[in-house]
Amino acid sequence: MHNVTRVGVIGSGQMGGGIAQIAAVAGFQTTVFDTKADAIARCQATHAKLLARAVEKERMTADEAESAKGRLTYVTDMDQLSDSDIAIEAVVEDSAVKAKVFSALDEMLTGDQILATNTSSISITEIAAATKTPQRVIGMHFFYPVPVMKLVEVINGLATDKKVTDRVISLAEAMGKVALPANDRAGFVSNRVLMPMINEAFYAWMEGVAEPEHIDGIMKLGCNFPMGPLRLADFIGLDTCAHIMDVLAEGLCNERYRPCPLLRQLVVAGRLGDKAGRGVFDSSK
Ligand code: NAD
Repeated sequence: MHNVTRVGVIGSGQMGGGIAQIAAVAGFQTTVFDTKADAIARCQATHAKLLARAVEKERMTADEAESAKGRLTYVTDMDQLSDSDIAIEAVVEDSAVKAKVFSALDEMLTGDQILATNTSSISITEIAAATKTPQRVIGMHFFYPVPVMKLVEVINGLATDKKVTDRVISLAEAMGKVALPANDRAGFVSNRVLMPMINEAFYAWMEGVAEPEHIDGIMKLGCNFPMGPLRLADFIGLDTCAHIMDVLAEGLCNERYRPCPLLRQLVVAGRLGDKAGRGVFDSSK
């Protein structure tokens, strides 16, 4: 059993906003904290819009949406997270920033509260090392868009207590997700398996094995993927893909994980994918 009634979310961006939304919808008192007032305001407006849309599409009643909104509090002062039973961190993907946040959380929450991170590529063990209580630090890796994606990858750091893992799995299930455990190695399971496949698709393109649309078509129709690997790379961001390959190469001490030269070249050219209007494919039209 998770023993959680109050959820604190740190960072109100794409991921933190989504996590706060599903926590509130699932019945948890939820406080979202961001250092930036404009980010918090955007998050609140996004919640109002998405909950209204869910009512329109008859995925929830107007009363349910109102109660979920009533369970959400938006703050720019971290002290207001002090009554949280779990803190879920979703700030920028920067180990120095995360270390500061975890050190502050460790000092503020001095009981058996859980300290979770939604990092997609930083070592849980490294983040836990910024605290004096690494046994309660764990990875709670949600996927974008959070309200839609079913999975939470639950990642144990070197020191994570098994009771903490069990509580987080139970909590993720109470939020309507499927929680699957993994251990702390670079890329965890999701990126460890996905990113080398995407990288290999860039090699296949670079070596002239096939054109991008044919590589994607072959993987979609032949492997039953909903989206080809190169299209997916554009969606994720080519800079993010290259960065995660470097994380794998460093973390697994193995050069075979380095980004494909063509992937690196597109990144330096500014062809970062959908967010730039052009990556492998032109998405500006
Ligand atoms: P984002 O840039 O949309 O949001 C980050 C938010 O954190 C911003 O609003 C920023 O103001 C806030 N912030 C920065 N420093 C802060 C601090 N010290 N205290 C409080 N708030 C602070 O980023 P995102 O896409 O939501 O990613 C957040 C985390 O989730 C990252 O670790 C990322 O790797 C991970 N993640 C992202 C995805 C994705 O698809 N976007 C998927 C899984 C995991």
